[in-house]
Amino acid sequence: MDASIALCATHPERPADGTCSRCGTFVCEHCRRWQVGRMLCLRCHQVALGEKPSRRANVALAFATLGFCGFVPGLVAIVLGHQELAAIRRGEAPGSGEGVAVLARNVGWFHLALLVIVVIGLALRA
Ligand SMILES: [Zn+2]
Ligand SMILES: [Zn+2]
Repeated sequence: MDASIALCATHPERPADGTCSRCGTFVCEHCRRWQVGRMLCLRCHQVALGEKPSRRANVALAFATLGFCGFVPGLVAIVLGHQELAAIRRGEAPGSGEGVAVLARNVGWFHLALLVIVVIGLALRA
């Protein structure tokens, strides 16, 4: 076998399809996993799943929930959700916060949409 071809660390008989963005291990197409656009090996994927979401992800979700009592916290949730997702992509925040951040951002957009509808409704009535 050609020595210049990188092989999967888990399956020595298979050519590597890429490297884990976390530990640099060669992974084949069978053992690579994706998280927020990052390629991870099986082991790092397990570790990433076990990580707790960052505080910002949880704060974003809290603001998104508060948005049900008023619209402004929903806008904060959009901003925090975006920041958190960007941090996860840069590898600065645990990937497990992705679901929380996406939820917070989407709920935030929902509040914003409601706000726009209410404002238009008021404008039409005036
Ligand atoms: Zn890895
Ligand atoms: Zn493999």
